[in-house]
Amino acid sequence: MIASHARPGPDLLIVGAGPAGLSMACALADAGIRSTVLEQAPLAAIANPVEDGREIALTHRGVQVLQGLGAWQDLAPSEIHPLVHARVFNGEAQRSLYFDSRQAGADRLGHLVANQALRRIAYQGALRRSDMVELQCDAKVKQLCCDAEQASVTLEDGRSFSAALLIAADSRFSASRRMAGIGAEMRDFGRSVIVCRVAHQRPHGHTALECFHHGHTMAWLPLQDGVSSLVLTLPADQVDRMLALNESGFMAWVQTHSQDRLGKLRLIGPRHHYPLVATYAHRFCVHRFALIGDAAVGMHPVTAHGYNFGLYGIESLSRLLAEAKAQGRDLGSAEPLQAFAQQHRRATWPIYQGTNLVVRLFTDDRAGARWLRQGVLEAANRLPPLKAAITAQLTGRGLTQHPLLRQAGAALFNRLQSPLTEPSRRGSAAPNQPPP
Ligand SMILES: Cc1cc2nc3c(=O)[nH]c(=O)nc-3n(C[C@H](O)[C@H](O)[C@H](O)COP(=O)(O)OP(=O)(O)OC[C@H]3O[C@@H](n4cnc5c(N)ncnc54)[C@H](O)[C@@H]3O)c2cc1C
Repeated sequence: MIASHARPGPDLLIVGAGPAGLSMACALADAGIRSTVLEQAPLAAIANPVEDGREIALTHRGVQVLQGLGAWQDLAPSEIHPLVHARVFNGEAQRSLYFDSRQAGADRLGHLVANQALRRIAYQGALRRSDMVELQCDAKVKQLCCDAEQASVTLEDGRSFSAALLIAADSRFSASRRMAGIGAEMRDFGRSVIVCRVAHQRPHGHTALECFHHGHTMAWLPLQDGVSSLVLTLPADQVDRMLALNESGFMAWVQTHSQDRLGKLRLIGPRHHYPLVATYAHRFCVHRFALIGDAAVGMHPVTAHGYNFGLYGIESLSRLLAEAKAQGRDLGSAEPLQAFAQQHRRATWPIYQGTNLVVRLFTDDRAGARWLRQGVLEAANRLPPLKAAITAQLTGRGLTQHPLLRQAGAALFNRLQSPLTEPSRRGSAAPNQPPP
């Protein structure tokens, strides 16, 4: 991005130039902190990200973070799709659980933006701050070492870099996390999603549909008029078969299983697929090392929180590091990192566990589970305060910040989850304990 000669060394290193790593570099630059971002992919892949089928639902809070970085303003209005209502269906039942943005006191539940566009604006932001952000592409991190003085990395090509702190944003399967000795809960759902854009005959009314059928789940995310993103979740062993179908065979299957909710359907983009594996790091920091983005928390997409959590983490860690810098403290010192770890666990833990619980309940096809989820949907429909609470949570309007709700949620999730494998070290809260 910019020549590395005659520039001062970085205050910190970031591994991964995905949307989280680049947005973190922007937030730090705005706080006067200089970073070098190390990315294994070539520059062309980062500067001109390709369409990857993901349409990212952003919460109001996620959008605020992007606005604060000046990145939201880089999106064309036609790239932002309002999400105003949502309906959840169980099996063949016609009745649905209905969410309306007015329940959250807003004109929309959230916004849908293509991941390709989010990656583009993150890169543009870093480019604008090129005096403070150095991007090194074709730079795969192979080794790292965090000692009393500094954090250092060695690349596959033998080059090495060091700084006061290393922040890893290198995906949910983060190699840096492992190199730093941090374990992670990994929950493989044994399913994959196929995502693609589909044109349809009936208007979507800016309504997302989440249809939990037996054997598969079909979600429809409203984009421009007459177009939605299809998110089809299938047992992993069926995905190859589905992708092997030609366009008309695939769409014939989708049409048959869509229950005619959107009328006649037509595929208008490539199909992409992703395995569904959720991850939660056992710790978010060790000495001179912190995790953000999917490397910290990799979510199942059903509650649409993955990148939102990435943005919340960026907001909190950059603020704490800015404070440390203003006080003349070492950026790799324990205080800001531990404060970040606590805040991020508190913000993400209940929803991570709640999301996994929802997935478990809604993908279990045994008769008892089918009956239970119908009961859950009807109860939520009849209890406006419960629905309002779920809506506020999904939109990022902050109900988990309510101490009573947080405690109740953490206690409930703890009861339902089995203990994780790795004990915590250095006195941080054990991962299966309620967030502090
Ligand atoms: C189908 C689907 C739907 C989704 N829907 C939503 C949604 O509605 N809402 C939402 O908030 N989130 C959603 N998400 C999640 C969202 O896409 C992710 O949270 C986000 O893209 C993660 O960004 P990241 O920068 O943390 O990681 P990534 O985008 O994975 O970037 C990691 C980067 O690190 C680099 N890297 C890896 N290893 C190394 C190494 N050793 N050295 C150097 N570089 C390295 C990689 O090349 C990559 O560029 C969805 C995800 C999927 C799959």
